[in-house]
Amino acid sequence: MKSSRRSFLITSIGVVSTLALSREAFADAPKVAESDPTAVALGYKLDAAKVDKAKFAKYAAGEDCGNCSFYQGKATDAFAPCPMFGGKQVAGKGWCSAYNKKA
Ligand code: SF4
Repeated sequence: MKSSRRSFLITSIGVVSTLALSREAFADAPKVAESDPTAVALGYKLDAAKVDKAKFAKYAAGEDCGNCSFYQGKATDAFAPCPMFGGKQVAGKGWCSAYNKKA
């Protein structure tokens, strides 16, 4: 009885520290530069207002990473990882042509 409780505790601690570590890894992920080849290809801008609207006609006012379904943070987070950029961080106020409105 005692040992199963102990192993439960040890497992819980393991899970919690793994979560803490992955959160930290996210927070430390590098930020995507607009000059990054993937960023250029997807038309990523740190500021959605600077999107090349002639090239990316699909852009609509009000769209930004913060309300995109791929954004891995809260809408209010200044930066959060995006799977389109291999988990690197993108700006909450940014935008790219892979934008997909969060449901
Ligand atoms: S996929 Fe969405 S969250 Fe990622 S950079 Fe493009 S607009 Fe931003």
